[in-house]
Formats: sequence, C-alpha cells, structure tokens
Amino acid sequence: MQLLQQIPKVDKLIFHDTFTGLNHTLLTSIIRDHIDTLRKKILNKEIERVDESVLIKEIKEGYAAALSPSLRPLINATGVILHTNMGRSLISKEILERASYVICNYSNLEYDQEKGCRGERYEHVSGHLKRLLGVEDVIVVNNNASAVFLVLNTFAKNKEVIVSRGELVEIGGSFRIPEVMSQSGALLKEVGATNKTKLSDYKNAICDNSAMLMKVHQSNFTIEGFSEDVDFADIRALAEEHELLDYYDLGSGYIAPLPYNLANRELPLGKILELNPSLISFSGDKLFGSVQAGIIAGKRELIARLKKNQLLRMLRVDKITLSILEETIKAYLEEKYDLIPTLKMLFVDVEVLKQRAEEMREKVGCDKCEVIETKTVMGGGTLPNKEFPSIALYIKGKATRLEKAFREKGVIGRIEENCFLLDFRTVQEELENELCQIIKEIVV
Ligand SMILES: *Cc1c(COP(=O)(O)O)cnc(C)c1O
Repeated sequence: MQLLQQIPKVDKLIFHDTFTGLNHTLLTSIIRDHIDTLRKKILNKEIERVDESVLIKEIKEGYAAALSPSLRPLINATGVILHTNMGRSLISKEILERASYVICNYSNLEYDQEKGCRGERYEHVSGHLKRLLGVEDVIVVNNNASAVFLVLNTFAKNKEVIVSRGELVEIGGSFRIPEVMSQSGALLKEVGATNKTKLSDYKNAICDNSAMLMKVHQSNFTIEGFSEDVDFADIRALAEEHELLDYYDLGSGYIAPLPYNLANRELPLGKILELNPSLISFSGDKLFGSVQAGIIAGKRELIARLKKNQLLRMLRVDKITLSILEETIKAYLEEKYDLIPTLKMLFVDVEVLKQRAEEMREKVGCDKCEVIETKTVMGGGTLPNKEFPSIALYIKGKATRLEKAFREKGVIGRIEENCFLLDFRTVQEELENELCQIIKEIVV
C-alpha cells in the first residue's frame, strides 16, 4: 500500500505554515480525524492519490468548524413573534446590559447584606413581581412546565385533581397535561366532554380524595361551535366552597392591554388575580416577554409550601434568569414597554412596517419584489387562531427555491399561496442592512 505511506505525519503537518497561531491540542485532534478518514478512503479504494494541499485546506476548515458556535442568530421573517423554534421572546440589549452588572459580578443572590448571613434567592424578583401583579407571593422556577409539575407534586400527590376533558392539552415538545400529572404523582380526574364541560361536572367529581380543581389554558387550539367551558371564577368559587385548592395553568400571561382586540377571550393577569386564586402559573418567555421561566403566583402560605418541596432545588433558576426577569419586571412597573421586544413588535404600527418594507424594496430593486398587506399570529402557544395585520415583502420567483436559498443564509421566511414572503413584523431593525444584502445576493 504505497498510498498509505504518502499520508503526511501528524508531527510534520502540525508545523505547516498555514496553521501558525492555532491551538495545538485542538489542531492535533482535527488532523488525526482527517488522517483517519483519509486512511479509510485509501483502504476502500475511494481515492487514488494523496493531495497534501487539499488535506491542509480541509484541516483548516475543520478547525474553523470546530470553533463556530452551534447556536447562531437567525433573521425571523416568518412574522410569528413568539416562534418557539427560534427562541420565543427576545431580550432587549438594554435589559441584558442592566442585568449584566449582576451576572458579571458577585451579587447578593443568596446573601442578606443587612444581617450578614445567608439570604433567599427567591426574595429578589418576588418583591417587584408582587407589586406588579398585586398578589400575596410569587416564586420563579425553570419554566412553566416545572411550575405545573411542582404545584401538582406539592399539593396533589396521590390525590385527585379535577380537570376538564377539553383541557387535557399537549403543548408541543411532548408536554402533555395527563402525562405531567401522572409523573408528578397526582391523580387525574377528568370530567365533562371534549367540547363541553359544565360546573356541575366538576361538582359531581369532588370526593374525599380530591385536592384541587385545575384549569388549563387551551394554548394552541380553539374549540368552535357546540362548545362550553367553565370560567375560572366559577371553578375558584366551587373550590373554595369545598375547601379545595384552585389552580390555573395559564401558559401565557400578559400585563398591558393587547392591540387588535387580541385578548377578547383572555383576561390580563391583573384581572385573573383579582379573583384571589389559590395559585396560577405562566411562562416568563411567552406574552410576558422575558426570559425562560415559570412564574407561580398566589396565596402566601401555598407559596411557602412550594418553597419547602425538595424538588424546588432541581427546578431552581440561575442568577442570569433572575436578573433578566427582574429588569423586565422593572420595565413593566415603569410602563417602558419598548424595552420588551415581544410587546414592541406586537404594538408597532402597520404603517411603520409598510414604510420599512417600501424602503427595502427600493434598495433591492422594485421589479424584484412587492410590498403586500398580510396577516400573522402571535405563536408560542398563545392567542390561538387570532390573526392580526402585518406587512411583508413578497419576493418574486419560485417560492420553494427562494425559501431554501434564504434559509441557507439564515433568513427564515414563509410561503403563502405559493409566494415567498418576508414578514416585517418580526424583522429586527438593526438586521435590515444584512437582510437587504442577502436579498440582493439571492435575487440577482
Ligand atoms: C406553554 C405552556 C406550558 C409550558 O410552559 P413552558 O414555559 O414552555 O415550560 C404549560 N402549560 C400551558 C397551558 C402552556 O401553554
């Protein structure tokens, strides 16, 4: 096997001029990988000669690839603001910068500066959150899925939780209420039918082993037509009458009134909390527009019991989460909604979007695209089947080809009726130049 002998030695390759300045350990491991592959190819008779310059080029590319991040930014031109696959809520630079003072320094995360002893990690956001929500107490965990799990495990282990059959939802990412419930140790007592559940259904299901009446938000679908469900207010009252807990898994919670009549079927957090529920929970990164977290709010003594559950240690949040969340809450307290990108994108005027799209069209070339009025949705398991107006740049050409070409360059658009659209509702202004460049490259 003469070819095998032609493979350059690692010790020699490593000192090749091309590789000056690269890290030795990483380089060695990449050279070894490439030499192994080369050897296999020779043994399989896939190649007939060893080309050192090709090998060196491939090693250099391999080195760069090993250091390129797997998580990369994308331009979201789908129009879906809370795109679960693209990271749900964005965090604004201002919020991140404010939070960075805590993240990049030692902090009083678990230190009581006044007393000079160990403090409570959960005290930090809870003060601000209690004020914002007007509630007795709150606790923050890793995400809303953990919140549901913790609540059920703490209050309903080996006891029955009564839930409507219309609310046994799957959120996506295989989070299913019945499965989560059984994992938590709670016993699911389903009542009513898929399309109709009445208050009497809950009432008739109450027995000695009942712990809780639970309502789950039908986050990603709606039931239209011959249907009926029970308001949380009635569920709460029934629970109180029978000395049971009530719990509303809201999925997503919002503070400020939403535009386009989007919330005609959903109450803001403040209104739900006015009902004085035992417990509610919602995601930090859905309509609330902050970091991934699960926020549980409700009665003081119940939150205190959650804090005593050993599971909390497994579900606890880091200072990164807490500090970003705290900054978001402060923005809410001052009604600086511009600092919350999810809300900023939702509230931006269609005329503004139109102007931005028109400018882009002129830069790109007016024969290549058109500005059209379109509709989009919130996404992320919120406000199901609710559309609101948006503006898109329709790129002329074969939609499937364009979709792929843009995607390969990190721009995710959408296809509608065989047209490829770049929806401006979710395009970040500071990325517009980059987007313009990419459009020009693709639609020459
Ligand atoms: C989204 C959602 C969850 C899960 O929340 P995460 O923050 O994604 O873990 C749970 N319940 C409902 C009703 C939801 O909509």
